[in-house]
Amino acid sequence: MTADLVITGGRLFTADPTRLFVDALACDGGRIVALGEEALTSVGPGTEVVDLNGALATPGFIDAHVHPASSGLDRLRLHFEGCDDAVSAVTRVGEYARAHPDLTWIIGAGWQQSWFAGGRPSRELLDSAVSDRPALVVNTDGHGAWANSMALELAGIEPTTPDPPDGRIERDERGAAQGTLHEGAVRLVERHAPPDTVDDMVAGLLRGQEELLRYGMTGWQDAIVDQRIHEAYLRVAGEGKLVGRVVGAMWWDRARGLEQVDELLDRRERGAPGFRPMSVKLMLDGVAENFTASMLTPYLIEGGVPGGSSGIDFIDPGELREVVATLDAHGFQCHFHAIGDGAVRSALDAVEEALTRNGPKGNRHHIAHIQVIHPDDVPRFPALGVTANAQPLWACNDDYQVELTRPFIGEERYRWQYPFGSLLAVGARLGMGSDWGVSTCNVMKEIHVAVTRVCPDGGAPLVIEQALDPVDALTAFTAGSAYINHAEGDSGSLAVGMLADLAVLDRDPLREGAFRDVEVTKTIVGGEIVHEKS
Ligand SMILES: [Zn+2]
Repeated sequence: MTADLVITGGRLFTADPTRLFVDALACDGGRIVALGEEALTSVGPGTEVVDLNGALATPGFIDAHVHPASSGLDRLRLHFEGCDDAVSAVTRVGEYARAHPDLTWIIGAGWQQSWFAGGRPSRELLDSAVSDRPALVVNTDGHGAWANSMALELAGIEPTTPDPPDGRIERDERGAAQGTLHEGAVRLVERHAPPDTVDDMVAGLLRGQEELLRYGMTGWQDAIVDQRIHEAYLRVAGEGKLVGRVVGAMWWDRARGLEQVDELLDRRERGAPGFRPMSVKLMLDGVAENFTASMLTPYLIEGGVPGGSSGIDFIDPGELREVVATLDAHGFQCHFHAIGDGAVRSALDAVEEALTRNGPKGNRHHIAHIQVIHPDDVPRFPALGVTANAQPLWACNDDYQVELTRPFIGEERYRWQYPFGSLLAVGARLGMGSDWGVSTCNVMKEIHVAVTRVCPDGGAPLVIEQALDPVDALTAFTAGSAYINHAEGDSGSLAVGMLADLAVLDRDPLREGAFRDVEVTKTIVGGEIVHEKS
């Protein structure tokens, strides 16, 4: 037998514990046909041979929580890549506004809270960059936005305007909007801006896919698939341009109730080759940095004493139990966003209730983000069959952690953050994702933090005891995420019969013991090289 493609000249990490490394792999017709010695015998005149030159190849990475369409679209608009403070951010906005005189609104994304005092940029500062049109720019984690005066006026936000139940308007001493909006309050302004179209989302998805392939991602779970993004996937797949293998998590509209289940059932039938909309995204809380993550006990205020707020439950925990039991009965996977220990517990309670009512359905519910987990809840992950979906890049002492989180959650909860090691120790399943564009989708930087708990630019480790073994981290970003996507029979590990989806690295980080600066040189999907580092 002659293979299409043979990879040799280094090691391949298989993510298959029965044979963790092989030194050659052959594929034909898009699937793996041989490993090791046997692969080498399948080299014929028409075989393309990839020489690893001593580097490592891995299964294609699978991003279990990512936003390719919206983040790709952000990259095509005003964004803040390369900015590092308030001054450079304001300059960027001004340049973009001048370069786009035809736009009726200035829409953008990607600024960081740490660039502004208290994480709250003011309307006046944005006015200084653009004052002739409304402007609304979302921050890098998507949980807040910065609006100029014209946008706030258009939205009719006055000192008497109440905060929405799922968000907060930052205010000045007189109660007027200060310029920063949190969570649901962003909608108050956003709904006046021109909506994104399916065409926009198609362009965004293609741009996003490019970014993911560049970092070796061959599959993913899109963590927010609304109607437009759904249409965009169908169109891109229909045109044969969807390269990655995708599961879609359809957005649960928390302003509506169980009546939307029929719609989700209809949408589940509308998949395409490479796109399976079989999951439902339930956003349970916000983020710790703006005190909207739902905690079991209150946040601390000045002087380290407990204040009055424990964050926000976006979905009432009682209602959540009904929703999850219903979705589970219909065979949907639930993809939870939970940051605070309160939100994590609500998710686990809801899955427990579903299990009691429906019995085990094998829907592979998973909780993304898992920033703070109460120690009592760690063993409940394996007990309830819930997969932990980690965004490892966040598990370090970055500015968000040091300035905006640790002082307000206190030392005990500081130590309960991102307990990946404890989860594995009790037998939980672990998948990984980047949450791009909130964070980079550079998998090697993600794994660097997972194994060192130190930020890519240095610093002290965050709860070093929770650091992962490199093999466990690589396994989580491949086989672990494949399990979440119900795809482990096809991808996430290298074995005969599996799809030939791989990432080729520029060195062997397992031998060198360092991941941070490793680059992906080739991304292979179904035996085809779909990205090559130039
Ligand atoms: Zn996300």
